[in-house]
Amino acid sequence: MRKPIIAGNWKMFKTRDEAIDFMYKVSESMPDIKDVDTVICAQAPMMRCLIKRQGDNLRIGAQNLHYEDEGAFTGEISGKLLNSYKVDYVIIGHSERRQYFKETDEMVNLKIKAALRNDLIPIVCVGEHLTERENNQTNQVLTKQVKGAFQGISALDMERIVIAYEPIWAIGTGKTATAEQADESCGYIRELVRELYGSIVADATRIQYGGSVKPENIDELLAKENIDGALIGGASLDAEKFIYMAKAALKK
Ligand code: PGA
Repeated sequence: MRKPIIAGNWKMFKTRDEAIDFMYKVSESMPDIKDVDTVICAQAPMMRCLIKRQGDNLRIGAQNLHYEDEGAFTGEISGKLLNSYKVDYVIIGHSERRQYFKETDEMVNLKIKAALRNDLIPIVCVGEHLTERENNQTNQVLTKQVKGAFQGISALDMERIVIAYEPIWAIGTGKTATAEQADESCGYIRELVRELYGSIVADATRIQYGGSVKPENIDELLAKENIDGALIGGASLDAEKFIYMAKAALKK
């Protein structure tokens, strides 16, 4: 059985006060969820104040890290620092990082290794552009991204990694992949993991869907066999919506 994971990606939204207000509302109403992992990935400077307010039912993650543990890299964040703040998760290879900050599969691979050596759980994002889907290249893109990301990662480490399938055309656009499309691509990713690591690892690997997930569509998505949770942008900014979606995962 794979434990569902609901992660909010707050991107570059919320001030400190807004973030504290969210944590307050969520800790008031979130049931003691042991069968679901819930995470909020926030901007780095607000992480400390969020960690002080986190509980077993809501953990904190980062949205990026550098692949070196320290060095002259102005403006970057190290896994070593995140670990010292007791951050649990880190998103790696989000399409916005790949697109606007030119992150390559090779950098994603190095960042996964940096996260693992600093005891952070990587949430590794993969997904295709609209033109690639339209040209039937989705599987080809996913194969390249998955094989590139996990080069040199051991089976033992792979069991800790979460993968997020995020078709780029569905991110922030209001266009969700249909539950069937999302399940099919998550299933394809699982087969890639099977090819690389065998069945025990593939069947244990958690694969989320991300792209315009909201309370209105989460039940249908989570009902699918290969979808083990969601990486949620816009809808995760609203405490009530986030609580609803975390509870939806309890039914899985
Ligand atoms: P969205 O973002 O839910 O706003 O589409 C998802 C993501 O970028 O992780």
